[in-house]
Amino acid sequence: MKIVSPSFKEITENRLYQKIEMCGRVCYKSEDKITEDSAYQFVKKICLNNHGSVLEHYNFCFRLEEPYYHILKEIDVPFFHLSYESEPLVSFNVRAFLTQYQKDVFPSELKTFAYFLEKNYPLLFDKKRGEEEFKIELITDFSLLSASEREMHQYVTISLITDRGVTHELVRHRLASYSQESTRYCNYSKDKFNNEISVIKPITLPDEGLPIWTKAMENAEKSYFELLNVTTPQVARSVLPNSLKTEIVVTASIQEWKLIFELRCSERAHPDIRFIMNQVREYFLKKGYINEII
Ligand SMILES: Cc1cc2nc3c(=O)[nH]c(=O)nc-3n(C[C@H](O)[C@H](O)[C@H](O)COP(=O)(O)OP(=O)(O)OC[C@H]3O[C@@H](n4cnc5c(N)ncnc54)[C@H](O)[C@@H]3O)c2cc1C
Repeated sequence: MKIVSPSFKEITENRLYQKIEMCGRVCYKSEDKITEDSAYQFVKKICLNNHGSVLEHYNFCFRLEEPYYHILKEIDVPFFHLSYESEPLVSFNVRAFLTQYQKDVFPSELKTFAYFLEKNYPLLFDKKRGEEEFKIELITDFSLLSASEREMHQYVTISLITDRGVTHELVRHRLASYSQESTRYCNYSKDKFNNEISVIKPITLPDEGLPIWTKAMENAEKSYFELLNVTTPQVARSVLPNSLKTEIVVTASIQEWKLIFELRCSERAHPDIRFIMNQVREYFLKKGYINEII
């Protein structure tokens, strides 16, 4: 059994297939299988297996012509985010678009986006539904938008190492997308995991609690390995503790991140989620994603 520390990093990969592969492989802890050309096959498999939530980690934001904005406003596509503050803008993720694209009757109002996406990501689309009806412009430099436009349309992807108790709280934030290390697919008795479980010590564990906690972790590991002799990881996982180390990738708009910080950096929040979220919030401040800590 190994004790590890909580940590986080931003995933800044901005190539579509590669980012989706990077986020999706966290579920299987198969990052070692990433090669120069593995991304496309991985994304195809994700689509075939109906593991569509992984596609939510890649977002687009477009500047629109005014008539197009009004047409989109009228049809109100699920998971498309529209705003018209200084200029008409829309953002959506790959999954939101594919859900519409794969319908038997494709909403013709979306053919301009289909044209752009089919042209730039031909491997993802098996039909020709696009047509360049309106001019759209992909936004890559969010610093040119106002603070409130950035909050709504700029998405940030953070990969966190924390424990299962913390991630259980984190995934309650519904306006975000998640991919998490799976205790169904990962077998911690394998060499890849050094034949041991990894755990995270509660930040407020008193010194006198340490031997009790350590013994409980060792017992859990022992029972898990014994169960693996007679059953599968997805059954054996039932004895793994809340302190089990896990990795989770979270993609959310800055607006949703701010709400997460408000709730999880508060003194009422659990100390372990507060500890890691305070660090993520500091990082957002340093990167200019947020301007102040409220
Ligand atoms: C200190 C603390 C203690 C907690 N204790 C418990 C507990 O004991 N038990 C428990 O079950 N949970 C508990 N929670 C979790 C809490 O109830 C929320 O599930 C979690 O904080 C997510 O917050 P949210 O729903 O406001 O935000 P999100 O899910 O991030 O949603 C963002 C916003 O979108 C809107 N929204 C999203 N979905 C809907 C919807 N379906 N309908 C209407 N509006 C929606 C709301 O305005 C919401 O504020 C606790 C959370 C905290 C911070």
